[in-house]
Amino acid sequence: MSKTFRIIIWLIVNGLVILLYPPEYGLHGGPNYRYKEKQCFSNQRMMLSVIEMYNMDHSQMISEINENVIDILVREKYLKTKISYPDPRKCKYLSRGELMNDGIIYCEYHGSAGYNSNKSEGVPPSKEYEKYIEECVIDSKYHYIKHVAPGFVIFIITTVLAFF
Ligand SMILES: [Zn+2]
Repeated sequence: MSKTFRIIIWLIVNGLVILLYPPEYGLHGGPNYRYKEKQCFSNQRMMLSVIEMYNMDHSQMISEINENVIDILVREKYLKTKISYPDPRKCKYLSRGELMNDGIIYCEYHGSAGYNSNKSEGVPPSKEYEKYIEECVIDSKYHYIKHVAPGFVIFIITTVLAFF
């Protein structure tokens, strides 16, 4: 095989490896698998404080969250833009209790920001999300073996074959 041909093969193989096994992303986003949950919780805190402000300004207070309420908050400029859902197909914001009286906002999928299973405070995440996190924990444990090591080994072998 000519040297040029071997280098072309080397480029193709390693290009495919990078496409199929991007080093920083595992099956579920690698070690950062909780980032959507964090975004979701920060949305919840933001909406709660915005509703608190709205309620101080209005005698007709907001007691629960729904799409309609989010529209009102945007229209009256309490929210700059419509909420962006970290998991658009799964996140849905609901409330428990009256929001002017210590009620909480939670996500049907991710649960509530202040959830504490020991004190049974807040709203737990959905079973579906719990299952997803279990998979992520296993996946991130083997992250380097499954997603980084194979690409590295292929890189070394093809480099030796192509250039030496
Ligand atoms: Zn959510």
